[in-house]
Amino acid sequence: LHSNTGVSSRAERKALEKAKILQRESERKIFRLVGRVLKKPEAERSEEEASVLLLHRDTVEEHCKRQVRRNVLKRKQEEVFDDADELKSKVRQLAAAVKQANHLVVYTGAGISTAASIPDYRGPNGVWTQLQKGRTVSSSDLSKAEPTLTHMCIRMLHKEKMVKHVVSQNCDGLHLRSGLPRNALSELHGNMFIEVCTSCSPVREYVRLFDVTERTSLHRHGTGRTCMHCCGELRDTIVHFGERGTLEQPLNWKGAAEAAKMADVILCLGSSLKVLKKYACLWCMNRPASKRPKLFIVNLQWTPKDDLALLKINGKCDDVMSLLMEELNLQIPVYKRAEDPIFCLATPLRPEEVNSHTREVIAPPDGQQDRSADPGRQAEEATAVQGGWFGRGYGKGRKKKKAT
Ligand SMILES: [Zn+2]
Repeated sequence: LHSNTGVSSRAERKALEKAKILQRESERKIFRLVGRVLKKPEAERSEEEASVLLLHRDTVEEHCKRQVRRNVLKRKQEEVFDDADELKSKVRQLAAAVKQANHLVVYTGAGISTAASIPDYRGPNGVWTQLQKGRTVSSSDLSKAEPTLTHMCIRMLHKEKMVKHVVSQNCDGLHLRSGLPRNALSELHGNMFIEVCTSCSPVREYVRLFDVTERTSLHRHGTGRTCMHCCGELRDTIVHFGERGTLEQPLNWKGAAEAAKMADVILCLGSSLKVLKKYACLWCMNRPASKRPKLFIVNLQWTPKDDLALLKINGKCDDVMSLLMEELNLQIPVYKRAEDPIFCLATPLRPEEVNSHTREVIAPPDGQQDRSADPGRQAEEATAVQGGWFGRGYGKGRKKKKAT
């Protein structure tokens, strides 16, 4: 008897499962059918089709909800431009806030470097957008990039004591190369020109004249070179998606957190803020809204902080910054390679390390000795960049995210 009930309950279970599968199959069919009908203009629907919609109201509703979500997503990705007059009047408001601020902190993202031909992440041609579409990412050589007008304006505003601290998501090292002092800078996601020895105490830093990240990726940070003092393996300073940055420099979290605590105005330039918003300490969200720093956002696309911003400026960073400098009566300094601090900061490679990379070396200014031997010259032509701080590491980060 016992075995009998066992068999019958197993058969029952199987039948139940089969019924469930059939049910799901039929729901999917209805869902597709409703979708097809909804796509037709109302006037062209047959009587039968109209009755399908009446019969499956819940499905119709679900379709509409999804369409709304799709539209919202599309709108968030669109680039919006304020017209010239609006831009001018908004920048005037920004200028007033900059003048009145006691502690202005600037947050920057990839959008300030696009003019330097470094691809951003989420813009229409950004790394993220391209990878989402299944395209490969290529870039003109990153070492050719130079600080943009926006980088130079920020440096000037700091010199004039109007900007107290800069927090950047960019790994391109351009803030440092613009002449911004290191204690005024937090490079939260690292700097592609810096490798470090964590076996030395304190951590020993090596600034190079080339992208040190060519062999590194998510959770694999060894650059293949070694420390001159202890022979420990050097690692890059890049923080990939899904990693937690613990290096004191160049990340300088302490400086970023202190700056946010003191800030009365925060100016966000060219960042989607999708990553920055997750760093709670940058936004003083533990305070009541009226006690938080005033937020100004310059970005062409939607950001998750738009609703909290006092002013959202839909313009290119370089356009906004040059208008701002005009309002403030300040000169925009011109980047001069000869004054690029990276040449003083850089540690030359040892002779046996000369062939340890293939990336192009930042050309030293005329007349100055090239202190870092340069095997990268042959790689002169701008080719697709494989691996490094955005290529390979990024792809892996994304795959991992998908799996969870
Ligand atoms: Zn060492």
